[in-house]
Amino acid sequence: METFYITAIVIVALHIVYVIFALRRREKNRIARRDYYREYLKSDAWKRKRYVVLKRDNWKCQICGDKATQVHHLKYAKHQIGNEPIDWLISICVPCHKEQH
Ligand SMILES: [Zn+2]
Ligand SMILES: [Zn+2]
Repeated sequence: METFYITAIVIVALHIVYVIFALRRREKNRIARRDYYREYLKSDAWKRKRYVVLKRDNWKCQICGDKATQVHHLKYAKHQIGNEPIDWLISICVPCHKEQH
């Protein structure tokens, strides 16, 4: 009977360790993605895409109709950052953009 309890405790302990490591890995991935995204926003590829979106929307905020100076992501490409289709992007003014985040 005692062996049973020891085994149960070991299994629970291993499970906890596994969960801790899984959470840590997830956090690490999240940070790596965020850093990658920050770099991407500085790239020429992003600047070009941004320009295309603003031009498509005629520099008009797609929420209030004011002059747009920024581009907002409706969705983020989780695994292929930088490959988001321009349909996922909208032109937006600063006040509306602040409200979106
Ligand atoms: Zn607006
Ligand atoms: Zn945004």
